[in-house]
Amino acid sequence: MNLSEKALGIKPSSTLSITERAGVLRKEGKDVISFSIGEPDFDTPEHIRKAAIEAINEGFTRYTPAAGILELRKAVAKKLKEENGLDYDYTQIVISNGAKHSLINSLMAIINPGDEVIIPAPYWLSYSEMVRIAGGTPVIVYTRKEDDFALTRKVLESGYSDKTKAVIITTPSNPTGMVMPEEALREIADFAVEKDIIVIADEIYEKLIYSKDKKHVSIASFGKEIYDRTITVNGVSKSYAMTGWRIGYTASPLKIAKLMSSMQSHMTSNPNSIAQKAALAAIEGPQDCVEQMRVQFEKRRDYIYDRVAKMPYVSALKPEGAFYLFIDFSGTYGKSYKGEKLESAAQIGALLLDEQLIAVVPCADFGMPDYIRFSYATSIENITKGMDRLERFLSELN
Ligand code: PLP
Repeated sequence: MNLSEKALGIKPSSTLSITERAGVLRKEGKDVISFSIGEPDFDTPEHIRKAAIEAINEGFTRYTPAAGILELRKAVAKKLKEENGLDYDYTQIVISNGAKHSLINSLMAIINPGDEVIIPAPYWLSYSEMVRIAGGTPVIVYTRKEDDFALTRKVLESGYSDKTKAVIITTPSNPTGMVMPEEALREIADFAVEKDIIVIADEIYEKLIYSKDKKHVSIASFGKEIYDRTITVNGVSKSYAMTGWRIGYTASPLKIAKLMSSMQSHMTSNPNSIAQKAALAAIEGPQDCVEQMRVQFEKRRDYIYDRVAKMPYVSALKPEGAFYLFIDFSGTYGKSYKGEKLESAAQIGALLLDEQLIAVVPCADFGMPDYIRFSYATSIENITKGMDRLERFLSELN
């Protein structure tokens, strides 16, 4: 049977195979500690859950407008104005089924066959596959640890061609946890305006920033020219511990918003009506729940970073946001573990799972094959146990 070549060209998520293997080990009764999951371990705050229950009890269970309910689109526009200095009318806001859906909508609204999209590595592994699904070509450029993995003009230029349609930026970053400095964002904005390319700004981790001297800046806030070329992507999944509810959104020039809304009306119709009411409560309601979770993540970040900083052979930058520690394992290459010579982070990830029962994410599919991502969205007790196991693994190298 002749199946879709495009679909056949899409790689399944590599993180899933780790989750599967970890699941098998757990079924065998093994105490696996997971650092592989990219979602808050907290429950969705109570006032948000209540809003959803009320929506069900009030019968808010029918189709809504495809781009989302008016109140939510307006609440998002207000949030963007107050928190990000961005002026959007509600007609420019499209509510979708998670930020992932918002991202693929964005790409499908702008890409023609042959168009290239620059993706700075290390990058969240879905971006490259989403660009392919949308019919474009991902062009990977490599940021440097020495620059704290910030995207510089020089690195951006290295991926530019007359086919470049867009660049995707993520701050705070998955997988590095770094927050892009304002100067770097300004350089990207200048470049995008000069070359007339679109910026897709993934700001899903915006509220999870720990470094006192860092604050989140939205690239679209730098002036009309960049505003006219930016699609800002955000959502409630990470900030409000709402990953399962599936609500994300875009803010973009009206022309693009209309295209996304039109495509969405055929593909999925509206995002879940009840989840929209819950997202409304999240965005309009009290924000102390976000701060409480942020403080917990900060404690975990400090703890995991301090532990890893003292370990031999490995190194990491101190994450400034999100909930990932991005560890360089290249210093272990050439050493042996139980007679097996180490030569890649993928191999080390498999050993850590099978031998030490810690599930982690090797980052070849994030564009950095020497690194492993540890998500610290888990309890301090789990992090402590997991770090003891990592330390034991490293101490057994010879
Ligand atoms: N963007 C980044 C950088 C992410 O890490 C994730 C989730 O892991 C998403 C977007 C997707 O968010 P959502 O769960 O709202 O689809």
